[in-house]
Amino acid sequence: MRVKVDPDVCQGHTLCNLAAPHVFLLREDDGHAYVAAAEVPPDQEDLVRKAVATCPEGAISIDEAGEAGA
Ligand code: SF4
Repeated sequence: MRVKVDPDVCQGHTLCNLAAPHVFLLREDDGHAYVAAAEVPPDQEDLVRKAVATCPEGAISIDEAGEAGA
């Protein structure tokens, strides 16, 4: 699974960081989110899906088939 945050849409609600703190990091200057790595570790995938569901802005997108060209 691959994940990304659209920086133009993110409003810095930090909910993604609460849901998956190892995947979504927050910029110190404006509190907006960015991903630690585009490729999500398998043990983090459920947390990332939870973060997608909780993001009020719909700023997070995932690509379920984004691993190893699958
Ligand atoms: S929950 Fe959504 S809007 Fe909030 S910081 Fe994360 S990506 Fe940005």
